[in-house]
Amino acid sequence: MAADVPAPPGPDAFDSVLDAIGGTPLIRLARIAPRVYVKAEFLNPGGSVKDRAALAMVLDAERSGALPPGGLIVEGTSGNTGIGLAIVAAQRGYRLTVVVPDKTSSEKTAILRAYGAEVVVTPGAVPQEDPEHVRQVARRVAADRGGWLADQYDNPANPAAHRATTGPEIWRQTHGRITHFVAGVGTGGTVSGAGAYLKEVSGGRVRVVGADPEHSVYSGGDGSPYLVESIGHYRHPDTAEDVWPRSYHRGVVDHVEAIGDRESILTARRLAREEGLLLGASAGTAVAAALRLAARSAPDALIVVVVPDSGRSYLSKYYDDGWLLRLGFPVGHAAGPTVADVVGPLPAPPPAVPATASVGEALADRHPAALRPVGPRRPGSPPGSLSVAEVTGTLDVAELRRLVTAGTARPADPITAHVTDPLPTIGITESPAAARARLGTREAAWIVVDGRIAGSLRNGQLG
Ligand code: PMP
Repeated sequence: MAADVPAPPGPDAFDSVLDAIGGTPLIRLARIAPRVYVKAEFLNPGGSVKDRAALAMVLDAERSGALPPGGLIVEGTSGNTGIGLAIVAAQRGYRLTVVVPDKTSSEKTAILRAYGAEVVVTPGAVPQEDPEHVRQVARRVAADRGGWLADQYDNPANPAAHRATTGPEIWRQTHGRITHFVAGVGTGGTVSGAGAYLKEVSGGRVRVVGADPEHSVYSGGDGSPYLVESIGHYRHPDTAEDVWPRSYHRGVVDHVEAIGDRESILTARRLAREEGLLLGASAGTAVAAALRLAARSAPDALIVVVVPDSGRSYLSKYYDDGWLLRLGFPVGHAAGPTVADVVGPLPAPPPAVPATASVGEALADRHPAALRPVGPRRPGSPPGSLSVAEVTGTLDVAELRRLVTAGTARPADPITAHVTDPLPTIGITESPAAARARLGTREAAWIVVDGRIAGSLRNGQLG
């Protein structure tokens, strides 16, 4: 070919999947809230916002020499950061081990394995100092095997990725007209990085709102469990010192909005049906916060909300009616009576009895419920608000009172000898027939409303 003939252009294509990370569209919620635009992070190649942080953290570790060629990447993650790292690892020739809490959806662990990652599942509901805590296990695996710990919670490359990409994309896409930025807070990388950029570039005009599950400590909750995955900050009652991620820069966030599991999940389900957007529950939390904001802000407000991942990772949870009904969430099911109809109005939920209580302490309050759940009582918890995830046993206080009167139990005794296994759980929204079938020959069950213990029922009450 003559030297002056230009080479034919190559295909109009990305050089690798890594170049397809970022540059996600902004989509208006045309039907639900036309002033709200979602940043469609589920369209990243790994299916979530975390592809951005994963790529940035690996490139940074390559530059600093912390990650040698062919090395081992280790991370503690609720799944999506692991998926992002798996993509980068495949493309750049690394091995990957991810440690996930047991609340992680089975879809996410299956995806991780499909990319060839090693998955270690560890209990989620333990204190931060516990050797079994996700971050402790990840640290140990990295140390034992000479791996590099990505450490999204404390790695400055995580918020920096959003300052460098997510924030500028939103500014460009809205032509600088954004007034409010909303993002769920997990490690805090998204809200801190993109939020800081948007504040700077707008001369402080953009308001930054963090969306947080109710009960999470970020929004001042008691730290008890919630069902939305990947955001918020859980605090085990035995935690000695509660350390927040360094990726979360609290000064950037003007306001943190707390959203209950029910509202998050129902908002996500509504987005699928009314906007054709199948999203995870943390997107439901963030959009719910944005909808509240839209309702109380000026008519020219332009709200951008990050929707971090797709509902495809949660078909077995938030999009499974059976799963939701067993936890007492109000979702559509065949017409007919529910457990609520047959048990009638419930008194205030029974307060939890701490496992370390004495018989006297357990009998001290005069709540009428005969059966009490045994589990932690947290400072700041509304009375009786115990998550099903934290119930460790059952105490029959009516029986215990009889034993004390008869002199067989003494007030100073520990309750330990009187605690029996936790009861099975029945959702308040289930059909009595489904509840009866699951209860079988068990005599009693906890009644669950929105994932929390609301009372107990005797088998016979189901008819
Ligand atoms: N939603 C989902 C589904 C996530 O995986 C994450 C990451 N943990 C978040 C929200 C929160 O993002 P960030 O860690 O940047 O705060």
